[in-house]
Amino acid sequence: MSSVPEMFGSLVFNDSTMKERLPKDIYKAFKKTIDEGKPLDLTIANAVANAMKDWAVEKGATHYTHWFQPMTGITAEKHDSFISPVGDKVIMEFSGKELIKGEPDASSFPSGGIRATFEARGYTAWDPTSYAFIKDGSLCIPTAFCSYTGEVLDKKTPLLRSMEAINTQALRILKLFGNTEAKRVITTVGPEQEYFLIDKEMYKKRKDLIYCGRTLFGARPPKGQELEDHYFGVIKPRVSAYMKELDEELWKLGILAKTKHNEVAPAQHELAPIFTTSNVATDHNQLTMEMMKKVADRHGLVCLLHEKPFAGVNGSGKHNNWSMSTDLGENLLEPGKKPSENKQFLLFLAAVIKGVDEYQDLLRISVASAGNDHRLGANEAPPAIISIFLGDELKDILDAIETGTEYHAQGRAIMDTKVAVLPNFYKDTTDRNRTSPFAFTGNKFEFRMAGSAENIGCPNEMLNTIVAEELEQFADVLEKADDFDKAVIDLVRKTYQEHKRIVFNGDNYSDEWLEEAERRGLYNLRSMPEAMPHYVAEKNLKLFKKHGIFTEAEVRARYEIQLENYSKIINIEALTTLDMAKKDIVPAVVKYLKLLADSASVMKSVDSEICTCAETELLKKLSALLTDFTKKIDVLDKAVVGAKDYTDVQELANYYRNSVFAAMQELRAVADEMESNMSAEYWPYPSYGKLLFSV
Ligand code: ADP
Ligand code: MG
Repeated sequence: MSSVPEMFGSLVFNDSTMKERLPKDIYKAFKKTIDEGKPLDLTIANAVANAMKDWAVEKGATHYTHWFQPMTGITAEKHDSFISPVGDKVIMEFSGKELIKGEPDASSFPSGGIRATFEARGYTAWDPTSYAFIKDGSLCIPTAFCSYTGEVLDKKTPLLRSMEAINTQALRILKLFGNTEAKRVITTVGPEQEYFLIDKEMYKKRKDLIYCGRTLFGARPPKGQELEDHYFGVIKPRVSAYMKELDEELWKLGILAKTKHNEVAPAQHELAPIFTTSNVATDHNQLTMEMMKKVADRHGLVCLLHEKPFAGVNGSGKHNNWSMSTDLGENLLEPGKKPSENKQFLLFLAAVIKGVDEYQDLLRISVASAGNDHRLGANEAPPAIISIFLGDELKDILDAIETGTEYHAQGRAIMDTKVAVLPNFYKDTTDRNRTSPFAFTGNKFEFRMAGSAENIGCPNEMLNTIVAEELEQFADVLEKADDFDKAVIDLVRKTYQEHKRIVFNGDNYSDEWLEEAERRGLYNLRSMPEAMPHYVAEKNLKLFKKHGIFTEAEVRARYEIQLENYSKIINIEALTTLDMAKKDIVPAVVKYLKLLADSASVMKSVDSEICTCAETELLKKLSALLTDFTKKIDVLDKAVVGAKDYTDVQELANYYRNSVFAAMQELRAVADEMESNMSAEYWPYPSYGKLLFSV
């Protein structure tokens, strides 16, 4: 096996490969177009395409594909071979045109009514800011995806647009602070990916996992996560072998997989890469999720990326660490040694605070999905209410600015371990707050509401856009200011005064916070159907339009696609619930009841006095539950049929949430009760205990 540095990026057509393989003048011209964000010249594209093809063919590739991220949330690819006939032979060819533009039939991708299906044309366009790579013998070219009429149909384009928007506004601010060297401001992201690993044989026995990615039934096991013995626990050999191979596969793809550990729930793990630009981080995260599944398969495992595969144990999220940085590497959210005197930092911080407060609804929507509804607001994940954790030091600084009093730094305390051989070290100025949905963690914000299965393009596009908006407002004021330094502090003060309701350093899981947040007038959008109407609110449509992220039609299309998707998911879950209930659970319980009845009658024939034997008791209990169960099957059956009365996407989603999903929950509760009272041998599915503790 080659060493890690040799392995790293070996399947990526990255900068050093380009430098090595492209003629000097082409390489230079290509870099220049990218750095300046200019359209690509066809001669350059031809040269790049040819070099890419030669490199890919040497690595064993036979095909190429434009690799894109339609609104399905996963990635899409359509493979073409490089072959081109010459007489009765073929040569391997790949042109600049093929590199730059693709034309997949777009009719089967969600478009939210933007196109009728007969208007099938869609285009993919090369995103040269994300490197091409080889996967499964194909050269994959990261691309954006849009319709014939130019509307975006994917998750990458709006993210790229939002990066442009924040770049423009942040540069204006930097210039005011006298920084003329920075040519670009980029946003950086490091997503921490959580996942579950279970045994493949168990998985195959559960229709719910196969069709829905989560369990729809399952009684609580005797042991869950209460001993807190899984978090950071020793990694078991089978999992360790999986993680090792996953790391290697990711490294080959140039993904900076860095940290891995066991998570809170049994069978739950986490992988975090080193951060990179939002665009590349998003592409890499999509690839990471794909590889997690593929590698699991080779190890007889299944990787579950659903936000809540098991009720009663922690779900999976994706902490989205986000910051802004210049092309020279200056992190704009780095407070430095004396944050109270770092005006530039305080201004960028104020922009985030204002943006998050004014667009709480958009951030909430950016992480809304049927799967994530099980997490947000349940006890282990952040609540559905958005607030910002700043920590004591920053809050004290902003409080002092607000009241015009002098800020006295607390100074950093020394941690004395009271053991001579252990080093003493400085403590951080503030503790972590695990319950906050949006926490400042030293030199970045950690947005913790994103779901594990989600494409992070969406939350990042929202973050970039809302901060771009606030920076623009700030720049408009500051460019006209006579006394710049005073104007900055005035702006920070005013912003904090007006938006400090969004700052909350306390326990986000407490009931008091729910009440307090309501008093503060913060949104509490508990579910996706409840959150979605805000997508098309006037202020949000205006924001997207102003920064060139979406037209109104594009937002409306997204609103429709996402709500439709929600209803479809609940519908599939309901049908799977019914299938399992009727075809497996009822027959299994009946069989078991028969066993009990037979046994009871044998007992009776032995001794007719024994009429209240254990079998009879259990028989009564279980048959009562079964009666209740069949009634609830009926209710769910009717609820599913009832959906046909709704045509409006919003009303339909509300109906699925309030009627269908509710009926599923009721049905499940009875099934779980039956499972707890039955012989494991008769229950038709592997138990939670087996699923969670068998790897
Ligand atoms: P935690 O303590 O939450 O596990 P870490 O400090 O290890 O966090 O970092 C978590 C993630 O944050 C990593 O992916 C890391 O690369 C990323 N990160 C660190 N700095 C930045 C930054 N400036 N911008 C974006 N992400 C960052
Ligand atoms: Mg974290």
